[in-house]
Amino acid sequence: MAEVLVFVDHVDGAVRKPTLELLTLARRIGEPVAVAVGAGAADTASVLAGHGAVRVLTADAPEFAEYLVVPKVEALQAAVEAVSPSAVLVPSSAEGKEIAARLAVRIGSGLITDAVDLEAGEQGPVATQSAFAASFTTKSRVSKGVPVVTVKPNSAPVEPVQAAGAVEALAVSFSEKATGTRVTSRTPRESTGRPELTEAAIVVSGGRGVNGAENFAVIEALADSLGAAVGASRAAVDAGWYPHTNQVGQTGKSVSPQLYIASGISGAIQHRAGMQTSKTIVAINKDAEAPIFDLVDYGVVGDLFAVVPQLTEEINTRKG
Ligand code: FAD
Repeated sequence: MAEVLVFVDHVDGAVRKPTLELLTLARRIGEPVAVAVGAGAADTASVLAGHGAVRVLTADAPEFAEYLVVPKVEALQAAVEAVSPSAVLVPSSAEGKEIAARLAVRIGSGLITDAVDLEAGEQGPVATQSAFAASFTTKSRVSKGVPVVTVKPNSAPVEPVQAAGAVEALAVSFSEKATGTRVTSRTPRESTGRPELTEAAIVVSGGRGVNGAENFAVIEALADSLGAAVGASRAAVDAGWYPHTNQVGQTGKSVSPQLYIASGISGAIQHRAGMQTSKTIVAINKDAEAPIFDLVDYGVVGDLFAVVPQLTEEINTRKG
């Protein structure tokens, strides 16, 4: 069976969930071979093997931390040359998309970004994407070179499947280009204790209807009762009520959680562009004619300040 490379997103050896989802998709189209680079790369092996990686190629070098993405691109390119895979899967993070695009150019291959599903096809993997602000779902495949595909978080389940996961050192040497842009400092974001917005299984978002920064406590309380991330519409962000890093939509982040709860959000096309691929959508809005109700699975017409606290209380009570 053809091997499929999966580029591993990890922090000091702790594998992030979107990579495990990629392993599930990789098993549908071939045998997953994981590529982990940077500090702690070797520590990823047991988790990757536990999710179906037949081999784990690892490389560590100071260049991975000291420079921007090109060293990672060159490591992945070395893996492509060593393995001759039938496809390369990369998580759809900002960094992942840059790595995938640069790799595709270097190996002369076609690229598909932000896939929400992947299946085996007669002429290679077929990726599902959501296009034009999620008005269309497209299916496409790469017709030139080794398909490089980035996949959005929450596009596949995490499936524990034990495989050999044999660790092999990946030989990498860096070109001059790889060390062109040096990282001078890193400032970790202050932790809220909530999951990362693009990776969260549940997202609770607030919009202009929240009517003030202090009122976002109502949204945060619901999010915390569900272990969810908090999102915001651009109107709420532009008003200075919530940070831009939490904006969902065309000019914000694109999320695809199992459950998306929109409170006081009208459902403008630019907001929908960032959340319409969510599996289940719930909206709370006092205007029964709000366009958000056209795309919801469950809608509540009501004042969010009456509905959301009751919902939070009910969830907390049921959790015991
Ligand atoms: P509104 O449209 O004002 O809707 C507020 C809603 O809250 C209304 O439906 C109202 O009925 C309801 N409401 C009010 N009070 C309550 C209450 N007490 N209880 C319940 N419901 C209540 N927008 C984004 O979100 N993300 C983007 O990335 C983005 N990118 C953009 C890019 C471009 C180029 C442009 C032009 C626009 C972009 N926008 C984006 C803006 C977008 O067009 C809308 O203006 C924005 O999404 C509206 O935000 P909203 O739904 O919170 O506010």
